[in-house]
Amino acid sequence: THDVHIIGGGLAGSEAAWQLAEAGFKVKLSEMRGSGEMTPAHQTDGLAELVCSNSFRSDDATSNAVGLIHQEMRTLGSLILREADVHKVPAGSALAVDRDRFSDGVTAALSAHPNITIVRERVDVLPAEGLTIVATGPLTEPALADNIGGATGKDALAFFDAIAPIVHFDSIDMETAWMASRWDKGDTKDYINCPMTKDEYLAFHTGLMEGEKTEFKEWENVPYFEGCMPIEVAASRGVDTLRYGPMKPVGLDDPRTGRWPYAVVQLRQDNASATLWNIVGFQTKLKHSEQVRLFRTIPGLQNAEFARLGGLHRNTFIRSPELLDPTLRLKARPNIRFAGQITGCEGYVESSAIGLLAGRFAAAELGGAAMTPPPVETALGALLHHITGAAVAETYQPMNVNFGLFPPIEGRTKKADRKKMYTDRARDALGAWMAA
Ligand code: FAD
Repeated sequence: THDVHIIGGGLAGSEAAWQLAEAGFKVKLSEMRGSGEMTPAHQTDGLAELVCSNSFRSDDATSNAVGLIHQEMRTLGSLILREADVHKVPAGSALAVDRDRFSDGVTAALSAHPNITIVRERVDVLPAEGLTIVATGPLTEPALADNIGGATGKDALAFFDAIAPIVHFDSIDMETAWMASRWDKGDTKDYINCPMTKDEYLAFHTGLMEGEKTEFKEWENVPYFEGCMPIEVAASRGVDTLRYGPMKPVGLDDPRTGRWPYAVVQLRQDNASATLWNIVGFQTKLKHSEQVRLFRTIPGLQNAEFARLGGLHRNTFIRSPELLDPTLRLKARPNIRFAGQITGCEGYVESSAIGLLAGRFAAAELGGAAMTPPPVETALGALLHHITGAAVAETYQPMNVNFGLFPPIEGRTKKADRKKMYTDRARDALGAWMAA
């Protein structure tokens, strides 16, 4: 017997399970991977697998909303942040991890917890009774997605998501490429940089435009999420769009010329042993053979061996602002809570954060004391508030945490001071909320 049934052992489900178990409640965690099922993006049976980038983004808690939510989650005993900190790899001011060790760490912690039973099974129907947290993510298995659609009376929404290729380090030509961070901050040389001349860049742009793409007929009119747009879609917006985006050369002196190249392709470390590097911003729906051909025209990558090529996947989420109450319960069926990306938050960090809150709300409910949601001045509260009501339901789109979700700072302020004012105010608000 269990107190709460969590469906989905991804980022949100793992964090929710941990929060409930640590609060003393028995959890059954159902995860379909490991029972012969797989999603189109996952590659292992590990819990909390990172399906694309290995980055939890900025870890700067004084001037960045993502760094702030990291800090809030650490304060609330997040397992995901704990394991990310243990398995971090160099990434400048960002928090990036060795994806396998991270997932192994989360799996081990949950498996060892006396209050958690992990069951490898696919769930097709929302349980009629008993406290339940649905955390099946953007790739929710279609049978359950249909069942959720029936329960919510709305079709689940969907849009495209794309993933970037990963390259083996020993196949990169380091005579041509070099290690450096932009503006070479301190001693950190966290990125591998591949320089391009104007001619090389223009030829590459043409290659992107003309390369054969994988077609997904049923998805044709689905919008892209701006933060994960395929590189060829960005390229189609103008010949210089990439040079001002992921291929920006600014602050990157090529040691061979002492100058900034015309454009730069950057690779970020993907595992602790630094044997794998992902190409930053190169999520793509080019056909695999086209990716190999085209990406090998990048100077330094002429002999690149790919550990994984880019790809395109669906993203399923519900119209949370009208369907969920302020504690993430489905208004029509309050025994069901939603957590993670299926609620319409976007990103590893945000999904984990909403999992953390769902777990805590359920724990409070079981303990007989309703929990007040965190104040909207905190990053957790601002994101939750957006999902459960602040966003416009009709045009609801997945959302990263950002200062735009916070109540504006009152009075006249200098723009340069504003981010710190947001984070100072958030820390005070979280402290007061926790004390209460
Ligand atoms: P998931 O981590 O996907 O966990 C859901 C779990 O539920 C999975 O383990 C799945 O196997 C299981 N499951 C599904 N259906 C069932 C069922 N019926 N029964 C039992 N189990 C089930 N975010 C970033 O921050 N950076 C990125 O680079 C990034 N890239 C992405 C690339 C792709 C292709 C996709 C789809 C998403 C990406 N995201 C990225 C967005 C998002 O942050 C991740 O998908 C994140 O893993 C969401 O966390 P989650 O816990 O909600 O879902």
